[in-house]
Amino acid sequence: MLDAVAAAAKAAGREPADVTLVAVSKQQPDEKIDAMLATGQHVFGENRVQEAQGRWEARRAGVELRLIGPLQTNKVKEAVALFDVIETVDREKLARALADELARTGRRPRLYVQVNTGEEPQKAGVAPAETDAFLALCRELGLTIEGLMCIPPEAEPAGPHFALLARIAARNGLSKLSMGMSADYETAVRFGATSVRVGSALFGARG
Ligand SMILES: *Cc1c(COP(=O)(O)O)cnc(C)c1O
Repeated sequence: MLDAVAAAAKAAGREPADVTLVAVSKQQPDEKIDAMLATGQHVFGENRVQEAQGRWEARRAGVELRLIGPLQTNKVKEAVALFDVIETVDREKLARALADELARTGRRPRLYVQVNTGEEPQKAGVAPAETDAFLALCRELGLTIEGLMCIPPEAEPAGPHFALLARIAARNGLSKLSMGMSADYETAVRFGATSVRVGSALFGARG
């Protein structure tokens, strides 16, 4: 898979080193996680705080752990303690809770804002039209946002959603884009993804 991501980068005229493979380990058995660690893969994504705590507490050394699922404010403390990157900052209440927890602990997880590019009611994320204002609010709260993240609608071509995310990032001076999953990581790399979140194509179907 690392080779496939590197090939996608080269095909897009980009440096393979500029695209990080995030191995999405949610709902995968420990044997597969340990086998993946043994290959040297060290960046992993999880979508639930509690599940990640159970899986990673004993495997944390040398691993970069990213939260890629929705974060409830009552889990902010645990999330800030566990994750190196939180990709799903998506509302004012959460931004304020994160700002308080960072001030309290001095921890500095890298932060991404999730954008609901398809404006799907069931999906988390800031609406595209509200993202500039939300980023400004994060800055006012003292949060440094590293980039943007999106999950395009399943039934639509992903390209336009990746292009939209890239445009919003560019006009806000953000250089990091978390986009692309098993089915569309090559497209995402073409549209400028700096990290792709790949689960089933890497580990097999989830349990
Ligand atoms: C589960 C998940 C992925 C990985 O999905 P695959 O299709 O298995 O690659 C990527 N991003 C997010 C936010 C996820 O929840």
